[in-house]
Amino acid sequence: MAPRISFEFFPPKTEDGKQKLYATREALQRFDPAFFSVTYGAGGTTRDTTAGIVTGLKGQGVSMAPHLSFGGDDEATVLALLQRYADAGIDRIVALRGDMPSGMGAIAQLVYANELVAFIRKHFGQQFHLEVAAYPEIHPESTSYTEDIRYLKGKFDAGANSGLTQYFYNPDAYFYYIDQCEKAGIEAPIYPGIMPITNFTNLLRFSRNCGAEIPRWLVQRMEAFTDPADQRKLGEEVVTDLCETLLEGGAPGLHFYTMNLAGPTSRILDQLGMEVAAVSDESETAQ
Ligand code: FAD
Repeated sequence: MAPRISFEFFPPKTEDGKQKLYATREALQRFDPAFFSVTYGAGGTTRDTTAGIVTGLKGQGVSMAPHLSFGGDDEATVLALLQRYADAGIDRIVALRGDMPSGMGAIAQLVYANELVAFIRKHFGQQFHLEVAAYPEIHPESTSYTEDIRYLKGKFDAGANSGLTQYFYNPDAYFYYIDQCEKAGIEAPIYPGIMPITNFTNLLRFSRNCGAEIPRWLVQRMEAFTDPADQRKLGEEVVTDLCETLLEGGAPGLHFYTMNLAGPTSRILDQLGMEVAAVSDESETAQ
């Protein structure tokens, strides 16, 4: 079976950003993704922009999946948003606990993702395919490896269908994690999250916060370059190799953190030979 490909976007802040996102979406369509997802700002801060992008593109016939968390919202607000998605024909949601935006921690409590999954199943039955987050290098707040996997299992027991991982650059971390998940009784597919390397300095900073490990050898090799173009080239080679190893090792597909750019993700997929052959008008009408 062909690997499942999906692409993640963040909601743009400006009209110009929105037009660029639409162009990126169009450019990535040739890889025949199962869906495009759009992230949700911590605490629901992008509620309207996320919903606007998702329902707008869905209206054009694109398969879309909004990310969703309770953030600081009450049940009625989350239900109304879910109903809006259901009415728009959305059939997939990435269900998360999310993080609190700074300053809100004192006035609101986070709702664990397993509770959001149970909430969606209670109110909408099987209407949505539910993706949940998974952490091969373990969630930064987690107190133990086995506990984190137990909580992941809790999300599947509550009704989630599949997992999307935090990004990583060590394929063994993913393969070991999948083994441990299987031993814990998780049968659902867990798709590796892939972060193309476009700006290594930013990646290092961001990775410290989200608990993704950048291998020492990669830091050493990247820091040997002074030209960002050389870093990008190496980044492309490294991430292409990573994807190849993951797919050869049995990963069911790839979920790309595109950063709203078509180029870096497209170049990796092109090197993997993943473009879907376009059906020409001729072959469609032949016979
Ligand atoms: P949970 O699965 O609820 O886990 C959170 C932590 O609590 C973990 O340490 C877990 O071990 C622990 N835990 C889980 N359940 C319980 C329980 N019942 N009791 C006690 N402890 C528990 N963030 C955003 O703000 N917006 C996004 O759009 C977004 N998209 C993401 C997409 C992907 C694919 C990934 C991997 C992450 C994304 N994130 C996003 C980041 C994510 O919100 C943070 O990592 C957040 O801290 C955890 O969310 P979660 O859904 O994994 O939480």
